[in-house]
Amino acid sequence: MPFMKGAIKKDEYYVVIFGCGRLGSRMANWLSSIGCSVVVVDRNESSFDALSYEFTGFNILGDATELDVLKEAKLDKADVALVLTTDDNTNLMISMSAKEFFEVTRVVARAYDTNNIKMFSDFGIEVICPTLLAVENVKNALYFISGDEK
Ligand code: AMP
Repeated sequence: MPFMKGAIKKDEYYVVIFGCGRLGSRMANWLSSIGCSVVVVDRNESSFDALSYEFTGFNILGDATELDVLKEAKLDKADVALVLTTDDNTNLMISMSAKEFFEVTRVVARAYDTNNIKMFSDFGIEVICPTLLAVENVKNALYFISGDEK
């Protein structure tokens, strides 16, 4: 599986996803479809409606800032934690718990504010920044102005 490059090879990866919204639900569907064992956590029950027929995992209704919820998700057994709630501070808190307390090897989090990226990185958390990704996409769409076609 390409996303596990550099990690120990296993037959089945266990991935816990925090936030089953627009991004988390798509990731959950895809990871299930490629054979991962997936658990999704969200505090809003309606968020689970976005899970498709491809999803074969489990969902947990709860606030991911609560330790009991992280334990229920068996975070200590996870190969990867995907931390995709709406809020950077919440994501940082969950990611740090995953990394420091549950010793999850790969923790990937969403950070909207570019000023927060360093803080995540300093804790060994990999960051997806939609703001920076959007900037790159818009730049590429405007290649005819800059002449910078990639
Ligand atoms: P989206 O921005 O569409 O990718 O959705 C983010 C998801 O994160 C939503 O479904 C929220 O309900 C969920 N969410 C936000 N905060 C928490 C939290 N503390 N615990 C669990 N889920 C959360």
